[in-house]
Amino acid sequence: MTALVWFRDDLRIADNPALNAASESGKNVVALYILEDHFNWNIQGAAKWWLHHSLTALQEELKSKYNLPLTILRGNSEELLPRFCEQHHISDIFWNRRYSEEQRANDKALKDILPKVTSFNGNLLNEPWQVQNKTGGFYKVFTPYWKMVQSMPYETPLAAPKTLKPYTASIESLSIADLDLLPTTPNWATGFKEWTPGETGAWKRFMHFMENGIKGYKDGRNIPSQDNVSRLSPHLRFGEISPRQIFEETEKFRTAHGHDNDVLHFQSEVAWREFSYHLLYHLKDLPRIPLREEFNHFPWAQVDEETLKKWQTGKTGYPIVDAGMRELWHTGYMHNRVRMIVASFLVKHLRYHWHHGEDWFWDTLLDADIGNNSASWQWVSGCGADASPYFRIFNPITQGEKFDPEGTYTKRWVPELKEVPKKLLFKPWEMTQMEQLTSGVKIGEDYPEPLVEHFKARELALSAYQSIKK
Ligand code: FAD
Repeated sequence: MTALVWFRDDLRIADNPALNAASESGKNVVALYILEDHFNWNIQGAAKWWLHHSLTALQEELKSKYNLPLTILRGNSEELLPRFCEQHHISDIFWNRRYSEEQRANDKALKDILPKVTSFNGNLLNEPWQVQNKTGGFYKVFTPYWKMVQSMPYETPLAAPKTLKPYTASIESLSIADLDLLPTTPNWATGFKEWTPGETGAWKRFMHFMENGIKGYKDGRNIPSQDNVSRLSPHLRFGEISPRQIFEETEKFRTAHGHDNDVLHFQSEVAWREFSYHLLYHLKDLPRIPLREEFNHFPWAQVDEETLKKWQTGKTGYPIVDAGMRELWHTGYMHNRVRMIVASFLVKHLRYHWHHGEDWFWDTLLDADIGNNSASWQWVSGCGADASPYFRIFNPITQGEKFDPEGTYTKRWVPELKEVPKKLLFKPWEMTQMEQLTSGVKIGEDYPEPLVEHFKARELALSAYQSIKK
């Protein structure tokens, strides 16, 4: 008989409990990936690019370490897997769990029709149902959740299996290229070169951060021009590194070097990801329905497609917003501080429904993640659990001045503002004709006029909010 390990959001060989269990079963092992396309939240755009390269890396790793091929299929797992198991005499199936409503329903249905399935926690420190408040319920506020998580043990990360017995009969498989995950023309991924998807790339990135970024993380994480954030999010999204490995490694660092505040703060950010999954598991509508019911009646503005496009392409006339949106388009990533600013601008200054931002991020982020993206958009919009209140409206001028004081980040992504005097960089429309001439930027021609006036937009947002306030 044969054992199947089904890779999903866990594209790594170390600390992969499903892979270890397949190895320990002593059976001949089949490794499988299915590009599923029957969900509402199927993988899109930039994340597909990542998936292509991450699968390539996994395939090479499995081949070189275990001589184990990675079989690739495409379609609905509920239709494909029963036949596949029958064809290859599969008696045991191992997978690591996933948490959105539709994924869980899928996996539950599969358990009823497949041979023996054993599932594991491969992607979180704790399962969402294990973290309980005093009354046995789930947490809706991060701080007590994090306190509880800190008091709970988590499994020690597993080493990659030493050996695996590959199943040797031939299996019909697509190639990774057959999945058509890469852009054709235009190739919008040319700016993604800085990334190295895959487990080795994840560890390189992590080690770089441990050497260069973790010291000073607590404050530095807010400054987008600094190398103080890990940029691990796409690696975590695809499970190329696990939170248990991150916690173990950062604890070792803490014991050896101290920097307790920075390490703890970094761990707490990783725990925000856990919290998103905690919410996603307990609140099945998280990706689309506001958790605060009154937001169902929020008077969102009617979308003007041209204005939305200006937000998407970084032409709002607010330099810090435009820098973020252009960083996203070119690199598939945006710094967290700037994600908050651009998202706030969409839902508060433009008063566009957060779904428009959520969808754009889903398409353009390499780390597009069903837990984090949904929870974060609800958080920014003020309608989520433990959300930033709607009335706290980021001022894109002062946010720029505070978090990019030298304008290094902004000028990198909005180079037409390179010569604008520092004091006007985040409000270039205030430049005199003479200043526009000397800095080589004519507002309205070389750089757009602001889409909305900050104080006016703020007032409109607050009065819209007033109309739903209970
Ligand atoms: P670091 O600061 O190095 O943090 C390490 C890890 O902790 C991250 O990789 C991430 O997994 C987790 N983390 C950090 N900050 C947060 C946070 N605020 N919420 C949840 N987890 C966090 N993150 C995604 O992974 N996927 C998304 O689709 C996503 N969409 C977002 C949408 C909006 C509107 C906002 C405001 C935030 C979103 N985030 C998302 C959260 C956060 O911006 C990113 O996780 C973070 O910027 C990734 O960069 P990093 O790896 O350098 O972070």
